[in-house]
Amino acid sequence: MVEVKRGKMANGGNIEMVDGREIAELKLEQRYKYLGIQQTYEIRQKENTEDTKNELMKRVRKILKTQLSARNIIEALNTWAIPSFLYTAGVLTWTKTELQQIDRRIRTTLTEYGMHHPNSAIERLYLPRKQGGRGLTNMEQACLKEKQNLSTYFRNTHLPVQQWIMTHGDRNIITPEDSAEEPVIQNHIERLEQSWQAKALHGRFHASLSQQEVDQAGSHTYLTQGYLYPQSEATFLAIQDQVVPTRTYSKYVMKLPVETTKCRLCNDAEESVQHISSACSTIAGTKYLARHDNMGKVVHQLLCLQYGLLQSLTPHHLYSPQPIVENDSFKVYWDITISTDIAVEHNRPDVVVWNKINRTVVIVDFTVPMDGNLKKSYDEKKKKYEALSRQMRDMWRLNKVEVMPLIISCNGLVHEFTTKHLRQLKLPPNAITWMQKAVILGTINIIRQVVYPH
Ligand SMILES: [Zn+2]
Repeated sequence: MVEVKRGKMANGGNIEMVDGREIAELKLEQRYKYLGIQQTYEIRQKENTEDTKNELMKRVRKILKTQLSARNIIEALNTWAIPSFLYTAGVLTWTKTELQQIDRRIRTTLTEYGMHHPNSAIERLYLPRKQGGRGLTNMEQACLKEKQNLSTYFRNTHLPVQQWIMTHGDRNIITPEDSAEEPVIQNHIERLEQSWQAKALHGRFHASLSQQEVDQAGSHTYLTQGYLYPQSEATFLAIQDQVVPTRTYSKYVMKLPVETTKCRLCNDAEESVQHISSACSTIAGTKYLARHDNMGKVVHQLLCLQYGLLQSLTPHHLYSPQPIVENDSFKVYWDITISTDIAVEHNRPDVVVWNKINRTVVIVDFTVPMDGNLKKSYDEKKKKYEALSRQMRDMWRLNKVEVMPLIISCNGLVHEFTTKHLRQLKLPPNAITWMQKAVILGTINIIRQVVYPH
């Protein structure tokens, strides 16, 4: 209980209630906590801000120690750690600088746990997942918004007490500039996106994402589903942001004394992230092939299930396709050479689906190109199997032969025709999830093994 006389706390003694219990008087140096904020006659700004920050960071660390998936860990931060802080917006005074410091403290803590690469795009940490970000709440923005909600509430409520506050004004809650800040908040996401786009190095992946052929929503699947470990998600974004310590990065960005910028594997091309991820001849037949096959196996298994050639789903990493599977209606080939009367150069597509009833064939071929080569790879694949298509149509007396290249870039970019073809093949929507997952895990493994060998 606090008794106030002429604006000062006074010693009024305990208050006795009708049932004989007493409410203790609050001594001058004591405080009590109400709705999480230390109260006395005046709210103690300094102690409260320290308490609030400590509570926030305690919760952040507690969450980062868990085994949650990438999306769930951010979700936990947004719904359990950050609200403990936001609650004080408009009650305690936070300066812009203080809020920025708190955002930075959360980022460095994420880095400490391997969940945010220190040189990765900061913008992406705060962009929504469906826009290529990780969806973490930004304190500075959230506090501004919270304050605004509060001031909107006071502005729109017409009880005498609210009106009194509006005219006499608690400057923490109502400040004239609040209303001017409104459009700024609405544009926050837009500004993050622009800033990401404008960055010399990070902006390259933004440009790749913006290519006309890219299925944006499909390409963000791993983020919206958020199934990766938070550490793997951070590594993968660092790969996309090209902040991995390759030889060219070490020399030109880190300015380290590097003897050569040629690739440590092939000693031929310049060693960039994109080169190691998808263009090095040394690992084409091994690591790239394994990644390519893992993506293809997903599609093979789903097709066989659909045509009744398989009875149950095997976990994708344990699945190994049979070269030929067949029933009365369908025959599916995996990596089989097709003999033709007139020899054709490219006669071994990844998958051939022969529909015996309709007398049609679909040639399916997989590629994991560099981000910038989506269109080129698609056109190449189409052309590559033209001759084979003609030969098969004549020899097998088919009504139709279609070539469907399925393409996901080494950084997970989904070609819009990949999405279209999967629909034409009537595969379930999670086909894209599993295919992209195979590619992403492949790329992360390649970069980890080549650039960070232990
Ligand atoms: Zn190489």
